[in-house]
Amino acid sequence: MDTSWPHLPIRRKPTLQLDADDTPMGMNMNVVLTGKETVVLEDRPIPEIGPNDVLVKVMSTGICGTDLTYYLKGGVGSRVIHKPLVLGHESSGIVYKCGKNVTDVLPGDRVAMEPALPCRTCRFCRAGQFNYCARDKYFATPPTDGSLCQWYALPSVNAVKIPNNLSWEEAGCIQPLAIAVQIARRAGSLTHKSVAVFGCGPLGLLCMAVAKACGASKVIAFDIDQGRIDFAKKYAATDGFVSPRRPQNLETTIMEWNDKVSHDMLVELGVDGGLDVVLECSGAEPALQLGISLLRPGGTFVAAGMGAPMTSFPTLEMAAKELDIRGSLRYTTGCFEDGIDLLERGLVNLKPLISKTYPLSKTEDAFKARKVAQGTSEIKIVIMNQE
Ligand SMILES: [Zn+2]
Ligand SMILES: [Zn+2]
Repeated sequence: MDTSWPHLPIRRKPTLQLDADDTPMGMNMNVVLTGKETVVLEDRPIPEIGPNDVLVKVMSTGICGTDLTYYLKGGVGSRVIHKPLVLGHESSGIVYKCGKNVTDVLPGDRVAMEPALPCRTCRFCRAGQFNYCARDKYFATPPTDGSLCQWYALPSVNAVKIPNNLSWEEAGCIQPLAIAVQIARRAGSLTHKSVAVFGCGPLGLLCMAVAKACGASKVIAFDIDQGRIDFAKKYAATDGFVSPRRPQNLETTIMEWNDKVSHDMLVELGVDGGLDVVLECSGAEPALQLGISLLRPGGTFVAAGMGAPMTSFPTLEMAAKELDIRGSLRYTTGCFEDGIDLLERGLVNLKPLISKTYPLSKTEDAFKARKVAQGTSEIKIVIMNQE
């Protein structure tokens, strides 16, 4: 009998050796949002796992704008919390227990936790586009609880191994890096391209780092704050502009004003005919309009910023320049692995982005600090889940 196919998964040593007394026990503190600007710490049972699941001891969780919006408004858009919700969707940890069917990860493995829980059977999931899944669940999106807790059970396919030399602080920022990888994928090849990134928050900065790692010839940062531009230029951008404020009483049309501003910028950059790619991470209408104006004919615009749901869009210019306008939603298959590969090879560095860490027990302080720091150079807060 030919047993050469299918290959059995290679059994290997786990990343960490667990001590005999490392069995899951004790507290499982969860950060639960109960209403606007109200979170409580709640000790919940350590979750049971199914045959295809792993139990993860959660070590770190990044806090992003979505978490802050949930905290401040009690929901994001139509996703309003009707019952208490555990926050957190940017986590990493150590696998402690594996279901009986799990072969690809072992207890002791250090893993990043993918927060999307797609159905894997609908037409989009079957086509590999699980970010379109109509029945998907996602960490910290009602009614699915998030991972700002100490123990979390998830399908083993959602546990992506991370290298040993990555600190837990950095590991708490892998999810936004995966989102940036997806945005870059949506733009197509960035090699030798001039790439503008609007918005110098964590996601914009990660897009710049990914564009640079992918071989972009220029990475141009745009923001309304000079401090954030300065940071972006130190981090990954080759150039940067504070987006000029449009005068209240324009003597020309908005399009003519954008053309003049973008022309001056292109002259300063020494780029003939316009930029190749715009990655829009601010969600601001003026940024969208200036971005379209900066693009060369045949250029690509990726809309990733979640701003106002309805904006005024330069349709004529889009048609006349044959622009490719694309959206970007969450992440897809392999984005975590690609992000981790960039980290492992030293092409992206997450350390400069981490402003501060807080223990899980002080998560509310982190939200309050993040609220005050909105729009400043304060970049990324990471919660240490076991502290
Ligand atoms: Zn996030
Ligand atoms: Zn699906």
